[in-house]
Amino acid sequence: MHTSPDTRHCASDAHCRYYNRTAGTPAPAGRTPLCDGCLDAASRDIPRLLYDYIDLEQLQAPTLSQALNMQPAGKSAPPMPLKGEPEALQAEIAYTLTMWEEIIRDVCQLSPMPDVRRGGPNVQRALGILTPRLDVLANQPPTTVYPNGPEGAPQDIAGWEAVHQMQRLHHRARGMLGRTHRTTHLPGTCSTCGLDQLHRDDPRHPEDPCDVYCQECGTTWPHDDYQTYVTQLVWPTRTGAAA
Ligand SMILES: [Zn+2]
Ligand SMILES: [Zn+2]
Repeated sequence: MHTSPDTRHCASDAHCRYYNRTAGTPAPAGRTPLCDGCLDAASRDIPRLLYDYIDLEQLQAPTLSQALNMQPAGKSAPPMPLKGEPEALQAEIAYTLTMWEEIIRDVCQLSPMPDVRRGGPNVQRALGILTPRLDVLANQPPTTVYPNGPEGAPQDIAGWEAVHQMQRLHHRARGMLGRTHRTTHLPGTCSTCGLDQLHRDDPRHPEDPCDVYCQECGTTWPHDDYQTYVTQLVWPTRTGAAA
């Protein structure tokens, strides 16, 4: 993915929510390098990382009780390792959010980062800082960060890419939690990557939009577009021509 300043198209490129599939161009950039539609979608996805974090915790509960039951009675063997996928994803969510929280606290001259940086309360605190400032985050120029943990390789990541990263974490969490039937795998193929990876999250609140998204590449469509697709077997064009 790349963005060039003179065209001022949404930096989501072909993943843009309002990509014009006839002209092959993303929507115009909004008040950030992303178009306002993509930023709105992000402002719905990112706060949900808190629920994802909590749900992932619950996903680990059966594993824990299983592990305890499997301990042979009377034998003082060390508990079996519980480092499952949900735990790793939780750690990634907490790490990514607090990493950008620290940057945004600095940029916005908020109080300095607290010392304790792990666990659910930190996810909640980080989202409290980031969610109302997603436009500030999306406007951040490329910043050197350690996206894969403090021991990983440093990388220059722009704020809008961080927004996408957080949305991908949300979609990965929903995919993992699909076992609990909160995410539905829908028939059809993605108009961007062509894969059979369309999903929809069950709404938690009546006002939640039931966006359809591709779990592989992150392309998102309003639910109406998906309805058009399943009835006409063609993805609608968002811009220009009447659908
Ligand atoms: Zn866009
Ligand atoms: Zn896709």
